[in-house]
Amino acid sequence: HIQAQQHIKRLSQLYLALSEINQAILRMEREEELFPLVCRCAVELGGLSMAWIGLLDQKTIEVNPVAMHGNNLEYLDNLNLTTDKNRPEGQGPAGTALRENKFVVCNDISQDDLILAWKDKIIASGWNSMCASPITRGDKPVAVLCVYHTQINAFDKEIITLINEMTADITFALNNFDRELQRKAAEESQKLAASVYAASGEAIIITDVNRKVIDVNPAFCNITGYSKEEIQGKITSILRSPEHEPSVYESMLQEVAQQGEWQGELFAKRKNGEVFPVWLTINSVFNEDLSLKYRVSVFTDMTQKKAAEALIWSQANLDPLTGLPNRYMFNDRLDQEIKKANRTGIPLALLFLDLDRFKDVNDSLGHSMGDTLLRITAARLRECARESDTVARLGGDEFTIILSELEDISNVYRVTECILKSLQHPFLLDGEQVYVSASIGVTFYPYDATNKETLLKNADQAMYAAKNSGRNRMGFFTQAMQTAAERQLRLANDLHLALNENQIWVAYQPIVNLKTNEIIKAEALARWEHPSLGTISPSEFIPVAEHTGLIIDIGDWILKQAIRQVKQWQELSKKEFQISVNKSPVQFHDKHLKTNPWHTQIKDAKLPRGSIIAEITESLLLENDAFISEKLIEFRDVGIQVALDDFGTGYSSLSYLQKFDIDYIKIDRSFVHNLGSSPESIALCEAIIVMAHKLNMKVIAEGIETEEQLDLLKQIDCDYGQGYLFSQPLPAEAFKTLLIKG
Ligand code: C2E
Ligand code: MG
Ligand code: MG
Repeated sequence: HIQAQQHIKRLSQLYLALSEINQAILRMEREEELFPLVCRCAVELGGLSMAWIGLLDQKTIEVNPVAMHGNNLEYLDNLNLTTDKNRPEGQGPAGTALRENKFVVCNDISQDDLILAWKDKIIASGWNSMCASPITRGDKPVAVLCVYHTQINAFDKEIITLINEMTADITFALNNFDRELQRKAAEESQKLAASVYAASGEAIIITDVNRKVIDVNPAFCNITGYSKEEIQGKITSILRSPEHEPSVYESMLQEVAQQGEWQGELFAKRKNGEVFPVWLTINSVFNEDLSLKYRVSVFTDMTQKKAAEALIWSQANLDPLTGLPNRYMFNDRLDQEIKKANRTGIPLALLFLDLDRFKDVNDSLGHSMGDTLLRITAARLRECARESDTVARLGGDEFTIILSELEDISNVYRVTECILKSLQHPFLLDGEQVYVSASIGVTFYPYDATNKETLLKNADQAMYAAKNSGRNRMGFFTQAMQTAAERQLRLANDLHLALNENQIWVAYQPIVNLKTNEIIKAEALARWEHPSLGTISPSEFIPVAEHTGLIIDIGDWILKQAIRQVKQWQELSKKEFQISVNKSPVQFHDKHLKTNPWHTQIKDAKLPRGSIIAEITESLLLENDAFISEKLIEFRDVGIQVALDDFGTGYSSLSYLQKFDIDYIKIDRSFVHNLGSSPESIALCEAIIVMAHKLNMKVIAEGIETEEQLDLLKQIDCDYGQGYLFSQPLPAEAFKTLLIKG
């Protein structure tokens, strides 16, 4: 009976404690107040002897008391509690409750093995029963509530239920604290986002899955001219600018679809149709199931930034008066052009131009008239140069021009003549006709100087020399360049007449079979008998013919001679006699088909196969494989054989030649020249010959001048030879005599 009464008393005390805890939880604002409150209520209202709460340190898995109430609290000093099940201190009720997330009761401490580590201490404190209940936070045990009673068997089923409820309430409270924290944080960030959204100078558009506009911010309305109501529900493509192909936007959308984001520069269109540049960033917001919720696009209007950048660039690089590149940009361009010349091996010319008596115009008509004159001059200079040339104003009345990729140095005359002529036209200044002229200095990179500073100094000096020798003229920095340019110009002019006036003729040089010592081929070599300059070497006039395009007609004429000649000599000596004709790469690119292609000419002439050999150069093979292969196949089809001229001076390797249809290799005369003096040359020639034979090609040695060279070439199994030792190139008549003599 007494027991039953005690039980009812304990129950009602605990109910009281529980309801007190619940009410307190509702009023509680700070988490730290919770644990002490629970311990106090459990002891003072719930009739328990002692209660404490231990917090689990997730890293060290130690359990440390953080709140406690009741008798004999010194018991809690140095507990060394843990949840490690391999240590005695981890095997007690608190450790087990935390580790296994379950309620643990010991109703008779003296008999309980769980308690071993602390048994004596507990009994000395006057406690005979206890229990441990885990407290969870987000489903994970984070703390443990331990309560102690003086009586044995104090914790029966009903009481356990109540204590369990107590810890459940604590758990609920903790989770509530967490939810509240999250809600507050979300509220904060939403507030922040909303204020950014409204105040941002950047336009923001939120669109749905179908790219329809859900919302826009005030900056969007300012920038585009659309009101929020007008744009809502519309598809963003109404902002597209006609500046771009639709594919630009499509590929952007594709990337957004794939990656969820995109960033870049684009043109957009305002409501009034005005196109403007934007810097656009698109991002995506996803639902929890990872499906798309919205896209958020942010963009800035770059119009002013662009304009400012352009202004800064032009202030730094252009001369404000004429709009030409200024000294700074000129220097930069000259650096680049010099690099290009180094890369391509094609020279450049630097022109330095100074107006004659510009000071007089300035003094008599005033500065503003002087400015106008400079502006007009700038425009006239630009007209005389190519698009790719640089015309710059260094200051005052000084201008420079860079003529890049100057294939033919005499081209300088074309530009300077144009300039001098166009400046002769009067300048109309304020109703008055004013005349000026200019002096121009010309220097070449890399012939006259190999660095920028010297080059500029040269051009300046050449300009002064032109002024001193009477103004209104141009002058070269060196006499040698002047002479070379003049000669090239003259040759280019005179070559136009050469064919019609029969100044060109063909010389034939025998090619000898080194096994039989018979003349079985001849190379056709062009000769130009200039009426006043005398014989001009093909090494000099062929490049001029190539630049001017005259090589097409000259080459065609030489082929016709060779076809006629080979027929005669085949009758005279033997059927297999061949003539070798040089063909310039330029001739392969006769796009306008001014002349009949070689293969049709050979077919029409009904020559036996192999009557003509085309001599080509390595540079041709380096061009475009497919195109050249096709041409060489056309040759083979009509029986034109192919010889590779000047082998060893270029880059191609024998194995590379295998790709093409080549019948002969002509070893360049520089190798043959060294044969007597250098064992390396012999080894090299021998290697070429062995390889060529493996690849089914025959070898012709060029430039044989001595018996010694001939002997060596025979020893290393060279097939054919050509050179002064046998004969110089001869006029057709003389060659015929030689052929008859054998
Ligand atoms: P190439 O095709 O390598 O011609 C061989 C050159 O070597 C010829 O010079 C010839 O006279 C010279 N030569 C021959 N044997 C000896 C020798 O024993 N010693 C020395 N030192 N030289 C010898 P040429 O006639 O002055 O022709 C020079 C180059 O001009 C030719 O070199 C060829 O590339 C080009 N050429 C000549 N005629 C024509 C033509 O009709 N069309 C084209 N496209 N180029 C031609
Ligand atoms: Mg040749
Ligand atoms: Mg050669």
